[in-house]
Amino acid sequence: MSDRGLLLVLSGPSGVGKGTVCKALRERMPDLVYSVSATTRSPRAGEVEGVNYFFTSKEEFRRMIEQDQLLEWAEYVGNYYGTPRRFVEETLDSGRDVILEIEVQGALQVKQKFPQGTFLFLAPPDLAELENRIVGRGTESEETIRHRMEMARTEIELMDQYDYVVVNDQIECACERIQSIITAEHLKKERQ
Ligand code: 5GP
Repeated sequence: MSDRGLLLVLSGPSGVGKGTVCKALRERMPDLVYSVSATTRSPRAGEVEGVNYFFTSKEEFRRMIEQDQLLEWAEYVGNYYGTPRRFVEETLDSGRDVILEIEVQGALQVKQKFPQGTFLFLAPPDLAELENRIVGRGTESEETIRHRMEMARTEIELMDQYDYVVVNDQIECACERIQSIITAEHLKKERQ
């Protein structure tokens, strides 16, 4: 039996509701530690440095890559996003579970490095519903929406590389499914 925490990776296409589901899950599971990513994208209204993201310049991001400070990183719709490695490793070593909410290319990089992690793909009920959600958010230009929809189609094709697929039909139902998966993964780990 290992005392290390579980590494949970919640991924899926942009607009599927990863952020909302992750937030609701953290409210239900206050011991779950959220990994705050670094990004070169500009903050959206209401986003807070160090809470939603570490907002960094491209130069600073490149420096983090060179110094191997990122567990994974990806370029997504013209911006860089990455997971600070040390925080994740230290949290797992302290026996706490960590959740990463990241896009698909990054999730597959983590899978190569941490195959023992638990990889969850949050899927939309269908693609039309996904477009409604991205448009409804009202924060993206038409060009960005088109690009994000193209990415989403490619991302959905990679869904069979994950341990679990959770359909986000309703936030609370999706959270309940994820909570059950986490409980089951803990039981599995205790038996090892
Ligand atoms: P947004 O700009 O909407 O906040 O995020 C765009 C995409 O980047 C989302 O799919 C989000 O999950 C993903 N993302 C956020 N942080 C990271 C990260 O550290 N690494 C990777 N690979 N993707 C991330």
